[in-house]
Amino acid sequence: MNNRCVKGRFAPSPTGRMHLGNVFSAMVSWLSARSRGGGWVLRIEDLDPQRSRMEYARQIEDDLAWLGLDWDEGGVDGAGEVGPYCQSMRGAEYEAALERLMATGLLYRCRCTRADIMATQAPHQSDGRVVYAGTCRPAAAPPFGDCGGEGAVRLWVPDREIEFDDRLFGHHSVNLAGHCGDFVLRRADGAWAYQLAVVVDDAAMGVTEVVRGCDLLLSSAQQIYLYGLLGAEAPAWGHVPLLCNAEGRRLSKRDQSLSMAELRRTRTAGEILGRLAWLAGLIPEDAPVSARELVAEFDWAKMTPAETVTV
Ligand code: GLU
Repeated sequence: MNNRCVKGRFAPSPTGRMHLGNVFSAMVSWLSARSRGGGWVLRIEDLDPQRSRMEYARQIEDDLAWLGLDWDEGGVDGAGEVGPYCQSMRGAEYEAALERLMATGLLYRCRCTRADIMATQAPHQSDGRVVYAGTCRPAAAPPFGDCGGEGAVRLWVPDREIEFDDRLFGHHSVNLAGHCGDFVLRRADGAWAYQLAVVVDDAAMGVTEVVRGCDLLLSSAQQIYLYGLLGAEAPAWGHVPLLCNAEGRRLSKRDQSLSMAELRRTRTAGEILGRLAWLAGLIPEDAPVSARELVAEFDWAKMTPAETVTV
């Protein structure tokens, strides 16, 4: 144990209006932090310039505020000491981290196209994961030399298990060589990869607990590996079920009826939180409740480690 202050975060990508699944992750993250007297950061993950829009980020802020999920740091205007809190403004931080990682001698340039990578996928992963076959990996073992030049920057991964505990899904052991292979930190076009940005930011912002959808559960291992290389302390992990519609499909921007735009016209904040808290197993019946009232009800032990929950 350590005595760092508890700090949770919500890190939405501003690519559309929030739906009920996004609110579910935000709510559990907020409750987990607040139930231990912790702070909560709102970080805008707008790394993808094509899909991200500031108006969506502002809308996310408005929806969170309407729900009573308040944050102490971050957001578009970035109040707080360790900002900026929009990833599009944090390039210098990522650059500095990449420099540090270069010094480990574990990075190399990759000139594979997406088609090359797909062609060397054998057998295809049933869950759609892409495991990099190591086509551009230098023949000699690391440390590799200077990795200037063209192409994406990839990080060599070891053939060993990375262990971690998840607050809901329990103990996990992931071998990155089999799970994803050497992974990209910076794309050939200069764009920063999520895996690097999320670790640099959570470390810089003092985040002690990452709560998010369980589609990202196994990527925690990639992130733990990066924390180690950057000499930073990894946070605790808590992944939550993904919400599915009646057809069993994971909620997406297409499920208009469960978008906050629609929900705010037909439901109160208390009704939405009550429904989600009941689905999570935090309260015994589906009844309106405020975010503040839920703090006393929150307990990870009440939740079931299911990959999906139908709304
Ligand atoms: N930005 C990611 C998303 O909106 C979340 C990443 C994370 O929480 O680590 O899905």
